[in-house]
This record gives sequence, structure tokens and C-alpha cells, in this order.
Amino acid sequence: MNKSVRKAVIAGNWKMNKTRPEAKALLEELAPMVKDIKTVEVVACVPFTNLETALEATKGTNIKIGAQNCHFEKSGAFTGEISADMLKEMGVEYVVLGHSERRQYFGETDETVNKRTKAALAAGLKPIVCVGELLWERECNITEEVIARQIKLDFYDIPAEDFAKCIIAYEPVWAIGTGKTATADQAEEVCAFIRAQLEKKYGKAVADAATIQYGGSMNAKNAAELVAKENVDGGLIGGASLKAPDFTEIVKAAENG
Ligand code: PEP
Repeated sequence: MNKSVRKAVIAGNWKMNKTRPEAKALLEELAPMVKDIKTVEVVACVPFTNLETALEATKGTNIKIGAQNCHFEKSGAFTGEISADMLKEMGVEYVVLGHSERRQYFGETDETVNKRTKAALAAGLKPIVCVGELLWERECNITEEVIARQIKLDFYDIPAEDFAKCIIAYEPVWAIGTGKTATADQAEEVCAFIRAQLEKKYGKAVADAATIQYGGSMNAKNAAELVAKENVDGGLIGGASLKAPDFTEIVKAAENG
């Protein structure tokens, strides 16, 4: 297998942070820092209210913009929701789906993640689909079972040509926002397992080409070791994406990894 057949993607997940002026300032600080990055896709997934500001602030740069969720219906009586078409029409390219915070606090299930992924693909967005085990599940030694189930359900009935537009983010739930990072070996083990599941489902060429990120307390210090692993193709970054110099360090680690 050859890591260079696939693109490394470093995506910031800003979560519920930054007003519009703060978003503009952060992106304007980041843009010159990452302007010479060639081999890594740099993405900022911002709150819905910041999308327009972010798209404007990154025009003519190599930073792509993503949202943090979308609904699975095209339109209708879903108060407070945003459709994939609405995002696409604005010029948004990526959307994070099935983040563990959505699963934990907003009742997201594998079934709705699957529906949202299909809706995002139908609209022409690139989904970043998050999977990962709880601490309790890891302790019970069922990490692989949990991940295999999520891959089966989240990508149910999604053909290979559509899957090729998706990114998977392996995010052990116990490592998100906790300061506890999976070791590089733990991250590699699960990312390799995910690739093996993809090979069973879609065949070797599709699995080899799939971008599989690690996410969970990745920062400027630990990024290089994580992204150097054969099956880790970048990262989904929460806290550290809110500081341009830290995020840039992670992007540079991926460029060199
Ligand atoms: C995330 O929000 O996807 C994440 C990985 O957060 P953090 O980097 O803060 O752990």
C-alpha cells in the first residue's frame, strides 16, 4: 500500500466558537501561513453563521470551507435545520457528519448519519464522516466491532463512486476535547482496520485511495507522529484549529508526513 496515492486532509472543526469578526480574523491570519502548502487539503469547518464570512475571507486562498452538519431532507418543516443544498449553493465544499458530540448531545444515530451522508453526496458536498468508540467500548475490547458496525451502517447503500467523495475521521470519543490523545500506534491500528473494512466493502483500489483522518486532541506537538503513520491521512482538529499558528504546525506536519 502506498500512502502517496491519497490526499492528506487537515480539517479544523471550530465547533460552537467564533463570532463573524473573530472568524474573519482567524482565517485572515491563517491564509498566509498555509499559502505554500501543496500536498495537504486545508479545511475549516465553521458554524453555520460564519459560512458566508469564511467563504469571503478565504476567496483566492487554498483554504476550503466546510459546515459541521446538514439535514437529510431537501427542504420542509424542519425548524432550525439546514439542508445540504443550502450549503452547496453558498459554495461550501465539505460537511462534518456524525461527530460524536452530535451523537452524544443531539441524538444522532448511524441511521441518520447514513441519511445525512446520502443527502450531502446528492448535493455535491464532500462528507467527513466521524466514527469512533467510547472509552467503555475500548475497555471492553470491542473497538473493532463498534467501528465495523459504524462503517456498515453509516455507509449503507452508498456505492463506491459516491464513497470515493467521502472522508472518514476516526475519532475515539475518549480522546475528543479531553487532552487524551490516542497513541500513534492506537490510531494506526484502528485506521488500518477501517481500511480493511473498506476493502471488504468496496475493493482494494477504493480502500487504498480513501482518506482516513485521526481526530482527538491532535495538536502541534503530537501531530507529526500521528500523521506519519501509514494509514493516517491527516486529521480532524478541534481545539487546536482555533489558533492559526497551532493549526499551521499540524498542516505542515501532514505536508511532511
Ligand atoms: C473534534 O472536535 O473533532 C476534535 C477532535 O476535537 P479536539 O481536537 O479538541 O479533541
